[in-house]
Amino acid sequence: VTTIDSVAAVRATVTAARAAGRRVGLVPTMGFLHEGHLSLCDIARRRADVVVLSIFVNPLQFGVGEDLARYPRDIQRDARLAASRGVDILFVPDPAQVYPEGGAAVRVRAPDLEDRLCGRFRPGHFEGVLTIVAKLFNIVPADVAVFGQKDLQQLALVRRMTSDLNFALEIVAGPVIREPDGLALSSRNAYLDPDARRAATALYRSLQAAQAAFSAGEHDPAGLAGAARAILDAAGGVTTQYVEVVDVISLDTPSHARPGHAVAVAAVVGETRLIDNHLLI
Ligand code: AMP
Repeated sequence: VTTIDSVAAVRATVTAARAAGRRVGLVPTMGFLHEGHLSLCDIARRRADVVVLSIFVNPLQFGVGEDLARYPRDIQRDARLAASRGVDILFVPDPAQVYPEGGAAVRVRAPDLEDRLCGRFRPGHFEGVLTIVAKLFNIVPADVAVFGQKDLQQLALVRRMTSDLNFALEIVAGPVIREPDGLALSSRNAYLDPDARRAATALYRSLQAAQAAFSAGEHDPAGLAGAARAILDAAGGVTTQYVEVVDVISLDTPSHARPGHAVAVAAVVGETRLIDNHLLI
């Protein structure tokens, strides 16, 4: 794996690869890599000749009082893991490369899609996400970019931005990768102490409860959300932020739940905010 930290160098390298007829795949991350990230690299590998993994803890998407300063980082371990999964280019810019003016005066917003679900609890977060993703799409002119279904609202926003702003690349989603007990992998799981780690399984169990209710014939979104919420409420140390059944494109709650709609949850476990979702089958 080749590590590149400059915007000009990664753009030149990727542009040359494409000029030589090679397909380029981009996997944007904030690092502290786990199997969820690496599964996205595998997907990119299958769809492209050159895989670029970016690692950038984007200050713009963290709110005041959030975990920017203590977000876990281990670039050397990340480089080893990326190399072991066939990543060709590791793009690891520092904030001064990405925001040479010290910030972004021009930002990308999607008011109707961002001011709901996680956006209600993280004001400004998705503006920071869309702005960095737009910048990455311009810095790394890829043919395909791979995002995790884990971040359901982010995926919907990135898809909509790509079509609304005519970015000429394909967006591909990868499924949620989980621990054996169902906990969705997340860099933030590193924050969980043993009690919180046990309690954190409530998120996945709540999604399973919603699926069980759906399979048993409950098609009312409020009924499904109630089934999930009962599990979260019964778990100690879990403060639920939302449980919603949504359409994955519009993020609206449908009048009747159908297969392919998502049950999405966010909760604070101990001190750590976790999200998860499940596509109804
Ligand atoms: P992050 O480093 O948390 O910003 O995540 C980078 C990318 O990895 C995003 O597209 C996430 O949706 C994706 N991702 C994070 N966790 C998982 C997971 N458990 N399974 C699949 N993809 C994930």
